[in-house]
Formats: sequence, C-alpha cells, structure tokens
Amino acid sequence: MTPNGGTMITRFAPSPTGLLHKGHAYSALMAFRAAVAAGGRFILRIEDIDTTRCKPEFTQAIYEDLAWLGLTWETPVRVQSDHFDDYAKALEKLKEQDVVYPCFCTRKEIVAEVARAPTAPHGPDGPLYPGTCRTLSTKERTNRIAAGDAHAWRLDLTAALSITGDNLIWNDTERGDIIATPQELGDVVLARKDTPTSYHLAVVYDDALQGVSHVVRGQDLWHATHIHVVLQSLLGLPTPTYHHHGLLTDDKGVRFAKRDKAQTLQSIRESGMSPEALLASLM
Ligand code: GLU
Repeated sequence: MTPNGGTMITRFAPSPTGLLHKGHAYSALMAFRAAVAAGGRFILRIEDIDTTRCKPEFTQAIYEDLAWLGLTWETPVRVQSDHFDDYAKALEKLKEQDVVYPCFCTRKEIVAEVARAPTAPHGPDGPLYPGTCRTLSTKERTNRIAAGDAHAWRLDLTAALSITGDNLIWNDTERGDIIATPQELGDVVLARKDTPTSYHLAVVYDDALQGVSHVVRGQDLWHATHIHVVLQSLLGLPTPTYHHHGLLTDDKGVRFAKRDKAQTLQSIRESGMSPEALLASLM
C-alpha cells in the first residue's frame, strides 16, 4: 500500500535498443521488489518509439533476461510503438494550450546557432536549444508545415510555466519535496521529426495511463523528471512518487552501457552464472 492507501504500482520501462546489462537488472529488481514488498503490482513496458534503433530481438531478450532473473509481470505488456495515436492525442492537447511549437532546425543548425552565442544556456546534457523556432510567426509556421518542411514539436517552456505556475513540486523518496526546475532542460522535443512522439511525452502519458504510483529509475533521469512534472500538470495527469537510484558502475567506476557486451545479462547467463549469484552481487 502507498502512504495514501492506494496500491503501489511500479514499472520497469526499458528501450530495446540493445541487450540489458547489470544496471538494468538492478533497476528492474528494485522496482519489482518495491511492488512485491508493498503487496502491489509490477508492470513491464517496452519503450520502443525509436523504430530505427529498437529491434524485436532486443525485446525478446528483455523478456528472457527478466524471466531468468525471476521477475514476473502483468500481461499484456504495453509496447509503445503500438500506441502512437495516444501520444498524438496528448500532443494535440498541448497544441490547443499553445505550449508547443514546430521546430524546423536541423542538428547542424542548432550547433551553429549555439556556437554563435557562446553564452547560450547549458543544461546537464550540454547546450540547451537556443529557441530559434520559438519566435517564428504563425504565418511562417503554417506555410512551412504546408510546404512539407520536416519539423519536430518542442515544448515552449515559458508558455507552459505561465499556465502551470513555476512552483511545481514532486516528491522524491530520498530527497523529499523537490521544486521542479525544468529550465535545466529547456524547450525539449515532444514529437520528433521521424517519430510522432518523444520519450518525455510517451513516458508521462503511459505512467499515468497505467496508474504507476512509484517511478523507480536511474539517477540519469533526474533532470527529465522536472520536465515530466510540467507535462503532467499541462495534461491534467497525476504526478507519481519518484525514486532515482544510483547508477551501477564497473570496477573502474565506469557506468555500464549497452555496448559492453561482456556485461550484458545474456552473456552473464551464457557464462553459467546463476541468477541468485548475480542478484547477490547487485543488492
Ligand atoms: N526507456 C527509458 C530507458 O530505457 C527509461 C524510461 C524511464 O524509466 O523513465 O532509458
């Protein structure tokens, strides 16, 4: 049970862009155990909106790896690429509120623009989008879209905060109440040129749809949470409790990555290690 008396619902939401590694096992296990300990529910979700990088064999490996670890989850599993229409509807709601704008910039143009303005704000992942397309006139936007110019949709954070107010608060299990500072990521992409959504929009929509009460995920997504709270407020969705766990590292202190073949759960399995031994090494 959660503090407010509801059922605890946690989830693990990997992207099948590669094989899972020990860090994923740790994250999945933490979410699973929290739900079991609370007599709650655990959900697995496949976040495969990037249809060029995600592969069905990686989705299959996720199921196999997690089952080997002893995890069980509810079925059917929500696979995001089956639900692009849902995210498109959420984007429409944001368009109606005038808190998104089409962005026609290429990656190259953004880099050049940032280079021209060296004082441009930086976030945790590098320079923020400099806002080039935010100031385009409605006419120019309409004309370029009508002409078929490729465009993403970005959050107009200033417009968004003028609706939500800038005192959005979310609860982190370790750090308590946190005042959202979405400015650290700025005008993030909510629908990509080649995909009708983005991680931020799809994850917020699905966590609410699936009634997730506690989001357990790595510290690397701490800044994303600040944006997610803004989207939840705009879309009228509840804000779950968040737990951002530390990231596992190898002996040299380097974070595990999907490209490290030796550390994938598949190769650990194939090496003959038992799931119990792996679990013991993680927790
Ligand atoms: N799909 C994301 C990833 O694999 C994680 C999403 C989340 O936990 O919010 O990095």
